[in-house]
Amino acid sequence: MQLTNRSKVVSNKVQSAAEKMYLPGILKGMLITGSHLFKRRATVKYPDELRPIAAIYRGQHVLKRDENGAERCTACGLCALACPAEAITMESAERKKGEEGLYREEKYASIYEINMLRCIFCGLCEDACPKEAIFLTDRIVDVEYEREDFMYGKNKLVEETTKRIDVSKRQTEEVADFKKLPTLKHNELWQGKLIK
Ligand code: SF4
Ligand code: SF4
Repeated sequence: MQLTNRSKVVSNKVQSAAEKMYLPGILKGMLITGSHLFKRRATVKYPDELRPIAAIYRGQHVLKRDENGAERCTACGLCALACPAEAITMESAERKKGEEGLYREEKYASIYEINMLRCIFCGLCEDACPKEAIFLTDRIVDVEYEREDFMYGKNKLVEETTKRIDVSKRQTEEVADFKKLPTLKHNELWQGKLIK
């Protein structure tokens, strides 16, 4: 009795001598491999060869300084709140007299950490920041051997005064125009020009 119609008739064809030695299969495989010699390679010889990446690639973050070299971050926590991976932690501190050149706002981040193993490079922290302080860049996060080395603190995130990181390509004219809208008050210190 047949319960379903899904049964299949299995071929009991007797294999030839060539088939017993897998010759047709080997030949077919070699033809497929050989055909790839004439096709464009899908891979690159990384790290000697790098694929071109977009100017707005979302790689390692930078905490920007302002035009005077003071840290722009005011430790408001909005980036941490926006982060879907809960990768950002920080501690705030009050700016002391005489530290105006170091920190732009009265409150600053004494500790600011991003766990690069948690980060999914979505860029929401960049979008959330009202101070134009955090940007993702086209830099790739370094390879590490220890998990704790992926905790990036201010020493790795804040840009060096002598080695500024240009993020102007991330800020298209459309974005600049959007940020200039007076009703949005996105950034009161926005000077209507792209931040370098
Ligand atoms: S890029 Fe996304 S996941 Fe990474 S720290 Fe920013 S908000 Fe969090
Ligand atoms: S990076 Fe921007 S959003 Fe995050 S704490 Fe600093 S000022 Fe606030």
